[in-house]
Amino acid sequence: MPISGRWVVVGLDNGGTTNNATVLDSAGRFLVDRLAECPSCVRDGPERAIEAMADSLDRVLALTGTDRALVRAVGLDTPGPVSADGVISSLGATNFSHPDWRGFDVRGALEARLGIPVLYNNDANAAALYAHYAHFGPELAPQRSSVSAIVGTGLGGGVIERGQVIRGAAGMAGELGHVWIPMRGLLAEGQPVPECNCGLAGDAESIASLTGIEKNLLPYWLTRYPDHELSRAGPAAVAAKLVRGLGEAGDPLALAIFGQQAMAVGRLFTIAANFTDPDVYFLGGGVVEAAPQFCTWFLNRVREHTLLRKEQAGAASVALVPDRDMAGARGSAIAAREALQRG
Ligand SMILES: [Zn+2]
Repeated sequence: MPISGRWVVVGLDNGGTTNNATVLDSAGRFLVDRLAECPSCVRDGPERAIEAMADSLDRVLALTGTDRALVRAVGLDTPGPVSADGVISSLGATNFSHPDWRGFDVRGALEARLGIPVLYNNDANAAALYAHYAHFGPELAPQRSSVSAIVGTGLGGGVIERGQVIRGAAGMAGELGHVWIPMRGLLAEGQPVPECNCGLAGDAESIASLTGIEKNLLPYWLTRYPDHELSRAGPAAVAAKLVRGLGEAGDPLALAIFGQQAMAVGRLFTIAANFTDPDVYFLGGGVVEAAPQFCTWFLNRVREHTLLRKEQAGAASVALVPDRDMAGARGSAIAAREALQRG
């Protein structure tokens, strides 16, 4: 594919097992229309992983026939918890279990390895930025605001104001998973208040995440459906991953679980409505890839529980994060391009 303009940025989405990469040119066009993945080697520690990121960059440049000298900046995203400027938590992180990762400056190390400026975002913020730009387009995106909730292993969040990721004083803005939400009317009779890995009880992630299903929702709902097939499906971590497929098939236990998740996300959006009053509320994560009928059911339940004032309901909408697999790399590239354009 020919390159328009005089420069490009590369987006690198680093995950627990793979890196995905993309190239965005100075005219705002993506030169890759599919996944460009290679192994991330994250489990082998930072040294191997940084080499794997450099390799991922070289490969996507080769794939698009792009000269390395044209790369002005690299956008990088990883799972958290990582500081706003790309330093892995000193307490460690689920995806970065090798001890050498603790307190490691992944952004700085990649920048030093490549000799190209690297801009960092966490994966949820990168996906939120991509959803925002894909939805509004390059003209309107800088004038609009959005809030994203991405339901995966955890509940990732991103808050975009006038086209820019809100980072906060300590880089911890947009951690929507750990916002407390009201449990009244959400929990069923006798259902314990769910607990989150962060130490809070009754936050959004304690319900609207795969971890929430495994630790909180499934154990409770199996007491209500004692003969359910999932009670014989092995460890909770294995059984939790089967819930979505059952939901698609209309299983009542699975629908009870996803109904609670949708209500939790709707309540989270209701809180967001009173904070930043965004133009769009984005829902992302595994449910976006589910069977269309199930995805629509879930999205409608989220809408139902997103309580907007009349004026807000006329001005705002609830939408899906598009191209989920590519959202991280693409959002990272957009962030790098925006940073260059801002100078
Ligand atoms: Zn939490």
